[in-house]
Amino acid sequence: MEEAICRDLDAGKKPFAVIGNIGTTNTGSIDPLEKMGAIAKKYNLWFHVDGAFGGSILISPIYRNLAKGVELSDSLSWDTHKWLMQTYSCSTLIVQDKSNLLNSFTEHPEYLADVNSSEHNDSWDLGPEMSRPHRAIKLWYTLQATGTNLLAELIKYSFFNANLVKYELNKLPNWKIISNPSCGTINFRYEPDGLSDEQLNTLTDCISKEIIKSGFAYIVTTTLRERKTLRMCIINANTTKDDIQRTVALLNEIAVRETERVRCASLDKA
Ligand SMILES: *Cc1c(COP(=O)(O)O)cnc(C)c1O
Repeated sequence: MEEAICRDLDAGKKPFAVIGNIGTTNTGSIDPLEKMGAIAKKYNLWFHVDGAFGGSILISPIYRNLAKGVELSDSLSWDTHKWLMQTYSCSTLIVQDKSNLLNSFTEHPEYLADVNSSEHNDSWDLGPEMSRPHRAIKLWYTLQATGTNLLAELIKYSFFNANLVKYELNKLPNWKIISNPSCGTINFRYEPDGLSDEQLNTLTDCISKEIIKSGFAYIVTTTLRERKTLRMCIINANTTKDDIQRTVALLNEIAVRETERVRCASLDKA
C-alpha cells in the first residue's frame, strides 16, 4: 500500500484516502488495520474501514482483536442488516470527528429556520437524507431484547460453522479449500484429477446450479484469482450442525455426478 501511495505521489497525483476491510464480501478477509492506519497517518490520508459485513465482530470479545487498528480509522461503515439480523436497511456510519459530517452536510434552508437547534445535531445535518425512517430503533430494540452477549454468541457460532464446513470437506477426496474460513465465510471447490481449468470452472458452476435446484441449500459461486469457487457464508443463527453436514454430503454427491457429466461432454466434443 505504501508503495502504491509513493508511486502516485511521484506521478504528481494526490492520494487522499485508503480503505481497509473487516470481512470482505468474497472471502470474509480482514485487512491488517493497524499497519494501514499507521501508513494513512504518515501520509495524512483519510482512513475508512469497510465493516459493512464483518464490523459485527467488534461485538465479540473473542474475535474483535482480529480488527485491531479499527480505532485508528476516521470512519467505519457497519451494516447491522447483515450479521445482526436486522431487516433492510440498517446501515451505520461511525466517525471519529462529527464536525466532518456537519461541515459536509449542514444546510440552512429558510424553511427550516425555526427548527434548527444548536444543542443537538439534526439528522439532516449529518447525512444526505432529510426525511428518513428511524432505522436505529430496530437495532436498539434487538440490543435491548437480546443483549450483546447473545449477539456475540451468534458471531462465534458463525465462525464455528464455517470451520465445520472445512472440517467436513477435508474428510472427502478432491475438495480443496480456496480461502480459509473467516468471518463465517469459506470458499472451496471440487478439483478431481484430469480436468482442465476451464472444466473445473464449468464443474463448479454446475454444482452450484444443481444444489440450488435441489432446494436444499443456496450455494452460489464467486471468482477468486480467475478460479470459480463455491462460497458459503453461514451467518444464520438457525443453521444447525446437521444442516451443514447434510449440505456438504449433498454437495459431494452432486460433485461426483457432475464430474462424470463434464468428462463425458468433453469426450463428445473430442
Ligand atoms: C454488503 C457490503 C457492502 C454494501 O453494503 P450495502 O448496505 O448493501 O450498501 C459493502 N462492503 C461490504 C464488505 C459488504 O459486505
